[in-house]
Amino acid sequence: MKINLHTHTYRCGHAIGSEEEMVQAAIASHFEILGLSDHIPLPHLRTHLIESIPTSIHRFHDVLSIGKAFLYNGPGMRMPYSQKQEYLSTIQHLKEKYQQQIQIFAGFEAEYISEYLPYYRELLQHHEIDYLILGHHFHRFVTGSNNYTRYPISSQRVHLYVDEAIEAMQSGLFLYFAHPDIFLKGYGKWDEVAQSETRRLLEACQHYQFPIEVNGGGLRDCAYTFNQEKLQGYPNVYFWQEAKNYDIPILLGLDAHEPEHLGQEAIHQLEDFAQNQELTIITKPDFQTYFKHWQ
Ligand SMILES: [Zn+2]
Ligand SMILES: [Zn+2]
Repeated sequence: MKINLHTHTYRCGHAIGSEEEMVQAAIASHFEILGLSDHIPLPHLRTHLIESIPTSIHRFHDVLSIGKAFLYNGPGMRMPYSQKQEYLSTIQHLKEKYQQQIQIFAGFEAEYISEYLPYYRELLQHHEIDYLILGHHFHRFVTGSNNYTRYPISSQRVHLYVDEAIEAMQSGLFLYFAHPDIFLKGYGKWDEVAQSETRRLLEACQHYQFPIEVNGGGLRDCAYTFNQEKLQGYPNVYFWQEAKNYDIPILLGLDAHEPEHLGQEAIHQLEDFAQNQELTIITKPDFQTYFKHWQ
């Protein structure tokens, strides 16, 4: 594994490690390319949270999680918007400092949320970042009850996930699709809906030649049950067995939330999964095409 474009930092509130510690860990593991892609900070997050209230509160826990996000203006899911500049200038500095050892890219992992698309577009157009990856954790509002991974989500939600993912591909804003199968963690079973929606998603990925990621983060989530079996919700073996039947570029992403997640053990765990599923992995995503789009 020579490239990892899915890396977080302490700034999001649920990861450990500074930008530099992540870079050093990647160098120690002989990566050639490292992309930092922390959960995207959102401007006017507090207004966004307030607007979510009529549709987002279903139980007491939702009040707490919205309250907490409001109070900290970001963490535990994402850094406060006020830290964006520091995150980006730190990466800029590291690009130069370590240029002999590793190539570094600056990015974010972002949900497809229509309200924020102009912001995403601006980040790319003004070259504030090199890339965005689509990590579609939430429907419309970044709050707990809108989280696609929160079991159990309905079949309508699964349908929405796929609809939104297809719109995201069409937007041209994203380099690739992180953990495309993450909705299966929320849905929790492999039935006709899961299968037909997986196929609809994969058909679109094939049509747009939108690369999909086998995600190492889910492999760390070992005490999980899917379809009443001892299986992770993602990366999901049912999903990846379907994916094999399509012509879609597949890449690996460690989804590192601490420096150790860039180490040999995590790399082997992820490579083993891909090998067991007999997936063909591309070693370098086509940055060239993507960058051309934003010049
Ligand atoms: Zn995270
Ligand atoms: Zn991630």
